[in-house]
Amino acid sequence: MAQQHPTSIGVLTSGGDAQGMNAAVRAVVRTAIGHGLRVYAIYEGYLGMVEGGPRIRALSWDDVGSVLHRGGTIIGTARSAAFRERDGRRKAARNLLEHGIDRLVVIGGDGSLTGADQFRHEWPELLQELVAAGEIDEATARAHPALMVVGLVGSIDNDMVGTDMTIGADSALHRITEAIDAISSTAASHQRSFVVEVMGRHCGYLALTSAIAGGADYVLIPEYPPADGWEERMCELLRSGRAAGRRDSIVIVAEGARDRAGKPITSQYVCQVLAERLGEDARVTILGHVQRGGTPSAYDRWMSTLVGHAAVKEIVAATPESEPQLVGVRCNRVHREPLVESVKKTRSIANLIETGRYEEAANLRGQAFGEMNQIFQAMAEALPSVKPSDRPRRIAIIHGGGLAPGMNTAARAAVRLGRDRGHTMLGVRGSFAGLIEGHIEELSWGDVEGWTALGGAELGANRKMPKLQQFYAVARTLETHQIDGLIIIGGWVAYQTVHRLYKEREQYPAFKMPMICVPASIDNNLPGSDLSLGADTALNVIVEALDRIKQSAMAAHRCFVVEVMGRHCGYLALMAGLAGGAERIYLPERGISLKGLERDVERIVNAFKAGRRLYLMIRNECANSQYTSDFLARLFEEEGKGLYDVRQAILGHVQQGGNPSPFDRILATRFAAYAVDFLTKELKQGTSSSAFVGLNRGKITSHAIKGMPDLMDLDHRRPLEQWWMSLRDVMKAVSQTTPPNPLEPDLTSDITSDVGSSIGASGD
Ligand code: ADP
Repeated sequence: MAQQHPTSIGVLTSGGDAQGMNAAVRAVVRTAIGHGLRVYAIYEGYLGMVEGGPRIRALSWDDVGSVLHRGGTIIGTARSAAFRERDGRRKAARNLLEHGIDRLVVIGGDGSLTGADQFRHEWPELLQELVAAGEIDEATARAHPALMVVGLVGSIDNDMVGTDMTIGADSALHRITEAIDAISSTAASHQRSFVVEVMGRHCGYLALTSAIAGGADYVLIPEYPPADGWEERMCELLRSGRAAGRRDSIVIVAEGARDRAGKPITSQYVCQVLAERLGEDARVTILGHVQRGGTPSAYDRWMSTLVGHAAVKEIVAATPESEPQLVGVRCNRVHREPLVESVKKTRSIANLIETGRYEEAANLRGQAFGEMNQIFQAMAEALPSVKPSDRPRRIAIIHGGGLAPGMNTAARAAVRLGRDRGHTMLGVRGSFAGLIEGHIEELSWGDVEGWTALGGAELGANRKMPKLQQFYAVARTLETHQIDGLIIIGGWVAYQTVHRLYKEREQYPAFKMPMICVPASIDNNLPGSDLSLGADTALNVIVEALDRIKQSAMAAHRCFVVEVMGRHCGYLALMAGLAGGAERIYLPERGISLKGLERDVERIVNAFKAGRRLYLMIRNECANSQYTSDFLARLFEEEGKGLYDVRQAILGHVQQGGNPSPFDRILATRFAAYAVDFLTKELKQGTSSSAFVGLNRGKITSHAIKGMPDLMDLDHRRPLEQWWMSLRDVMKAVSQTTPPNPLEPDLTSDITSDVGSSIGASGD
């Protein structure tokens, strides 16, 4: 059958609400409008579809403005018993056809997507029934022979096979981690034990990741039921932590946790065990709906924007014959999977758990899930009482470069995992300058207690790089302290230093030891890794600041130029633009030109003339050395002739502060585990490779330091390959009104033809 050109699409949120659904709806609406389509919101999910009337309404560009920061879903969600009945679905079909809708973007959990698939299957028959009943005419039925569906997964549980992350999971993890941090501090004050119950009836994702991010002692999840006698093992772990000076103990329990026999493990039972066997003053906290609440995290805003944008492309390209797709993410890239298959596999996991086939269930969760479980077990089992090996190797941890949240988390994990391997773990205080001075001390299990959640760098970090004439002093310290291997956690300074040490190893035999760099820089400008530690935290800090700035600006017809860090790398600017709903971003990769600025002025003036109250621009600190944020603000102010006023905000060092986000904590732990394994292997083999670790397409891998310069644009100190640059198209689609506002000049050539300007027009 020939493909018809679609004119109308519908979008709905259904089932449980999840933070980030609004970003997805916004992206769907704006991308659809950009494609010249009419887009209808179906309010209250399937309930609204069955009821029709005012529950199905067209949305405009501005209807989805200023929604990114809002939790829940602005178009409502519900559970509809009527839609489960064929009668209800027939009514739903009629209501959709009233608006010519035969293409749907469904944002919901596996229930909602199952419902959508059933509806799609029945569609031709439902239409025949409607014709027979005289509710629609033959021509209408012929014009809409099939229902086309694209699914986006909104679920805080992260329980869907076919996507790495579901909309809302990262925000829920933020809520849980904040709660664990808060509980830890009160628990530590009173030397108490806490049992924290988190959501996840069939999926242990939230429990497992929050246990890693929160530095918990023990976790119970449905996919990996504990071995018989787990109660004693749990108590033993908690006991030894206490003996080493730990003041609090935290056990995380997923609501669907069970033992090997399938018997549910309740948080009350865990509490009772702790009280009886340890004589502890144990308390239970059930987090409940707090996990669904609050403002979406930066990740949930930009990831949902990405998948919303991709869903429209998918639905526009769909034909009556094409299989419905689920649009999700794999390794931060948009990823499609057949919807029916994904839902089927997801549902089978619950079944596998019910019937005790745990290994198969865990396998379906994917390789990263298994890795996460191993890492948690390794961290939990890394006991303070472990005996050093006969000939312990001495591994030093050092930071290099600017501060990045997550440095402490990585250092803590390296110390505990390294000691567990029998190594002596050393901390270098004060970066490379401290190394030259010999500020080196042994770190015990208890010394790094509490570092998981701590921002900053307890060991100290600075940007000073050892000069060539100081290499002798570096070599001497390494020899004096009998250091066998180095873990360098940091940014460009760290990478460059290790590269130089590597090059000088013939001159200085002391440098012939295995070394490994762990990427930590909020700028995300390091080679061989999609993301470096600190970037996610910084992005969250920026997005939080943007929310406040926007609130303040809305009241006053104001244009804001916000300057963000990043040096010569535009990652933070672009992602903050996507997650914060900016109209315009200025990237160092694209520069700023006078021609571009002229057009910006025109756009801003037209936008305010057309009734806008806020215009947000994000400028990377190195986008242009002459056209500074101050210059931009003055230019826009002058040209506005009083129509609006302009303010600038330079966010500055708050971006390096803050406690690490859950994502950064987990990544830090994964990197540290890799680094310890790497050094252990090298030392065992008697080899001395130097490398840098990274996150590559979801996997932790490493590259030899020798090849580092080949991956870099050395003049600009940024990697040659920047995966996120392709997201500029998404930024353009959700920030630039298309078809153009009649008051605006044609701006479509902006991105490609003008080096100086980047992206933008009137947006959020
Ligand atoms: P979630 O989408 O979050 O998994 P539910 O399982 O409650 O949430 O599903 C949401 C709605 O989707 C239900 O209230 C119902 O209207 C619809 N739905 C779910 N399963 C089916 C099904 N098998 N057939 C038709 N509709 C369904």
